[in-house]
Amino acid sequence: MTLLDGKLLSENIKSEIAAEVDLIRARGGKIPHLAAVLVGENPASEVYVSNKIKSCEQVGFKSTLIRRPADLGQEELLAIVQQLNNDPDIDGFIVQLPLPKHIEEEKITLAIDHRKDVDGFHPVNFGRMAQGMPAFLPATPFGILEILRRYNIDTAGKHCVVVGRSNIVGTPISILLSRKGYPGDCTVTLTHSRTVDLPGEVAKADIVVAAIGIPEFVKGEWIKEGAVVIDVGINRIADPSRKSGSRIVGDVDFPAAAPRCSYITPVPGGVGAMTVTALMLNTLKAAKGEIYPK
Ligand code: NAD
Repeated sequence: MTLLDGKLLSENIKSEIAAEVDLIRARGGKIPHLAAVLVGENPASEVYVSNKIKSCEQVGFKSTLIRRPADLGQEELLAIVQQLNNDPDIDGFIVQLPLPKHIEEEKITLAIDHRKDVDGFHPVNFGRMAQGMPAFLPATPFGILEILRRYNIDTAGKHCVVVGRSNIVGTPISILLSRKGYPGDCTVTLTHSRTVDLPGEVAKADIVVAAIGIPEFVKGEWIKEGAVVIDVGINRIADPSRKSGSRIVGDVDFPAAAPRCSYITPVPGGVGAMTVTALMLNTLKAAKGEIYPK
């Protein structure tokens, strides 16, 4: 069994991006600039946004953090989005989700200029992705593709079972892995809470992608010998043996699954580590006009 070390991969990719930024700077070009909008004080969002800003610093990007209180009005947030859409110095930006209940996330996502949508959540990017056109890919699926690519994992003709059909993970990764090319050309089964006999479906998989949000939900005995397991879950569970009283686990029962796998991502240090790095890759693409020529 080989661990798919997302942390190491992510450090390598960030060094590659930093080298490219150095070249841009040496040529007197414009330094890539990412902005993040954080509304309210959701503790998980605070951590995610601060990791994104830290990663920008690491790779040499310019970053701008716009913080607003939880009672920010929807119109005020839409005005911030418009301002970022129109600011020529901003190459890409994200509005951290979830937003406070009184703000309609869909309205905000739709208001973001798709050419700056480095989260890949805008339907224009999603549609282009589905049709195999150049697009900003959502960060988590993009990170998974990079893991498969950089570990040279064979995907053509493989049976991939995705567990969970969210718009940001399960659905896009099922589309991406079924597309023509590498990584892709898989035969994909997308499973969810209404799937009959989930263990039976997972047992057929050469590649399992678990994105459910339930700690250790996928059991070791469901996994076919030699399968590749990509665990997207990030769940905090109680652990009295730890000083903090808790620890992070994935959606897969790692101790039971790992011995049966050819490759598996650890949690933490697997997919999560790659997600922020994928956002950096998207920001670089935005700055270079690779998806939408400037
Ligand atoms: P979500 O809650 O939006 O979607 C969960 C999906 O799981 C749904 O489609 C649902 O149908 C399915 N599901 C729920 N119960 C099920 C069951 N009993 N059987 C089969 N399917 C079931 O979740 P999400 O946003 O895709 O996130 C999933 C997990 O991934 C969470 O733990 C989240 O924290 C984590 N996550 C990690 C990253 C990362 O960077 N690694 C990014 C996004 C999400």
